[in-house]
Amino acid sequence: MSSTLQAKAPAFSIKEAAGIAQRAFGIQASAHPLDSERDQNFRLRAQDGSEWVLKIANPAEEPAILDMQTQAMLHMARVDPGLGIPRVKTTPDGALFHEVEGNDGRRFIARVLSYVRGESLVDAPLSPALGRDVGAMTARLARALRGFFHPAARHELLWDLTQAPGLRERTHHIADPKRRRAVDDVLDHFDAEVLPQLRQLRAQIIHNDVSKMNTLVDGNRVIGVIDFGDLIHAPLICDLAVPISELIREHPDPIAAAAEITAGYHAVTALEDDELRLVFDLVSTRCAMYVTIANWRVCDHPENTAYILYGIQETGAQLDQMREWGAARMYTALRRACATPVSVAVSDFTRTPSDEADLQSLIERRRQRLGPELELSYENPVHVVRGEGVWLIDDTGRSLLDAYNNVPSVGHCHPTVVQAVARQAATLNTNTRYIYKSILEYADRLTATMPGDLSVCMFVCSGSEANDLAWRLAKAHTGNAGGIVMEDAYHGTTDAVYELSPAEFGAGRPLAEHVATVPAPDGYRGKFRRNDPQCADHYAAYLDDAIASLDARGFAPAMFLLDMILSTSGVIVSPPGYVAAAFEKVRAAGGLCVTDEVQSGFGRTGDHFWGFEAHDVVPDIVTLGKPIGNGISMAAVVTTPAIVASLMKECEFFSTTGGNPVSCAAGLAVLDVLAEEGLQSRAARVGAKLRSQIEKLAKQHSLIGDVRGAGLFIGVELVRDRSTLEPAAQETRAIVNRMRDLGVLIGREGRHGNVLKIRPPLVFDENHAQQLTDALDQALGEI
Ligand code: PMP
Repeated sequence: MSSTLQAKAPAFSIKEAAGIAQRAFGIQASAHPLDSERDQNFRLRAQDGSEWVLKIANPAEEPAILDMQTQAMLHMARVDPGLGIPRVKTTPDGALFHEVEGNDGRRFIARVLSYVRGESLVDAPLSPALGRDVGAMTARLARALRGFFHPAARHELLWDLTQAPGLRERTHHIADPKRRRAVDDVLDHFDAEVLPQLRQLRAQIIHNDVSKMNTLVDGNRVIGVIDFGDLIHAPLICDLAVPISELIREHPDPIAAAAEITAGYHAVTALEDDELRLVFDLVSTRCAMYVTIANWRVCDHPENTAYILYGIQETGAQLDQMREWGAARMYTALRRACATPVSVAVSDFTRTPSDEADLQSLIERRRQRLGPELELSYENPVHVVRGEGVWLIDDTGRSLLDAYNNVPSVGHCHPTVVQAVARQAATLNTNTRYIYKSILEYADRLTATMPGDLSVCMFVCSGSEANDLAWRLAKAHTGNAGGIVMEDAYHGTTDAVYELSPAEFGAGRPLAEHVATVPAPDGYRGKFRRNDPQCADHYAAYLDDAIASLDARGFAPAMFLLDMILSTSGVIVSPPGYVAAAFEKVRAAGGLCVTDEVQSGFGRTGDHFWGFEAHDVVPDIVTLGKPIGNGISMAAVVTTPAIVASLMKECEFFSTTGGNPVSCAAGLAVLDVLAEEGLQSRAARVGAKLRSQIEKLAKQHSLIGDVRGAGLFIGVELVRDRSTLEPAAQETRAIVNRMRDLGVLIGREGRHGNVLKIRPPLVFDENHAQQLTDALDQALGEI
């Protein structure tokens, strides 16, 4: 049986490990040992904040098998880039591994993989949702592997179920005669009855080790799987026996737990009846293997007792319990579970191969039916068929990391939002001229997040309508008719708001008479720079000019409308003191101060729920949209009772679908998810990390001029020359397109089109940040 178990594991010191990481892989890092039975693994913490795993293989491990594992990971990352598995780090000259010599003269193969973050499933209580997710992840791994083959795939492996009968010669290590008999019975039955059936089932290379220890979770979701050491070509169904045998152990209702795992698997890859019939036997055989191997191994390696014997008692007990149940009981439960469709986080992807001709025909139809001017993102446009968390899945089944879309801020198709909307749509959808409680509950919860007298909500369907309504409120309340906005502002599509959106104007189109603009307080490229202590005051002084210019035309300001992150101006954060000083001037001239939180609201900026909170101001009117309903059309104006009363003196307000029960259900679900999943603090944490990673890239890539933003709203300004600040517009366009091809979606912004705009759903985590950074590094390197 496997010589890797006899050969002594490598024994490099921490210092030697750090030396290998640096010399061979160019990673300057501290090394920390990780548990491993037959190899030696170290977690590397690099100076640039990145984390890796240095794996030094047991010298008896066949190089071909190591190559299979590496090639499998590369293949899976290509096929399903969203999969939370380790990424292979090559040496600076592109090699997949490096050979090192130990002090004893033996030679070892060292590889480096990315460190996948997450909580181990060992520490997580198994909820039904988590059980389904484990099953779904097991299936997803197998899907990513099904087009993969390697000549070493059918090798001798201790943990290969199909090789279980070989363990009969080891059962004498089990001291308890009753337990030994039970194990022998299972192995005999497997050899005589199960193996012949198993040979007729579909087979492929499988991960074969989705164990508790190897599964990484975040709350109720499986986010990753590590350890490709047991990869083998085997019947597909063997993959499912691993998590079931481990997770039902100690579970109060083991059969129900097995059913959840199976249902999750089945939701991604439909299981065949012949496969379901064998699950019981595969799970008991896996337990029998475990009891045998542990009892045998502990004789050879008494120093490793705790690791080897982990869970041995429970596994023995489980074996006894399963004999009591019998196979039929489990099969019935699994069949029933598969008959009921379940929704899983990592669900199926239907491959509908869309060749170039299909894509071109869709683009042509789009031109004809939607008008030729409707813009498409990316030179290589994305045909999306599904969304899930931070992923957009295209028509070929490829998962693209969405670091651009801020509307689905709690993640694409978040199940809580989807269910709330579906439930409400099936119950009632009506308008605000009737009484329904959800709108009141929503307005209560929304206004509870706002300071001062901001206590009345008016619901509409888009950010444009919200800004249009704010404009009407401001005019009615002040009796004035002038508007002040940023030079590159965008606030929406209605006729009135279009006049307040110079970013949309064609070349040479003048401002309307009643509108004045001020330059964005751009501390990087603008007239006044961040290092100038008077920067905020200088920019605020432009409000005096705008007010004077309106006055000269016979207007006084009704409102100053300001984004809390100046997106279209190039993702600019107003310098401290600017907003308060500007508001003071506008109010002194009789105008209202309106903050457009359509992009900056609902926790995106990390430190605050609303953008204005960072500036210590209380606006008169706040407009909301985009993420409010995670994609369900909804928007709102929040203001004071006095301001609403002023408009109501002039006219009635009613929006047919604004604030309808379905929108409110979406809005409430979004607030729930934001709170439950701690997405605001996550935006702060992941955003800060991502900004610092990109700042580090600036050391190697002189194109990066400035990295700015707040939370998960980030701008990266690209310049050809850091002293002249010549905008690198073409390069920015090329990088956005290249990143799209590398599987990461970002956008482009700013007057010169030279600012990378990064605004992912807030469920973006550190692994996603790393993937984005790697893609950006590569794209910049290729320019
Ligand atoms: N305000 C801001 C700051 C925006 O970014 C947008 C949309 N890009 C709007 C208003 C208009 O919102 P909508 O497209 O929902 O009408």
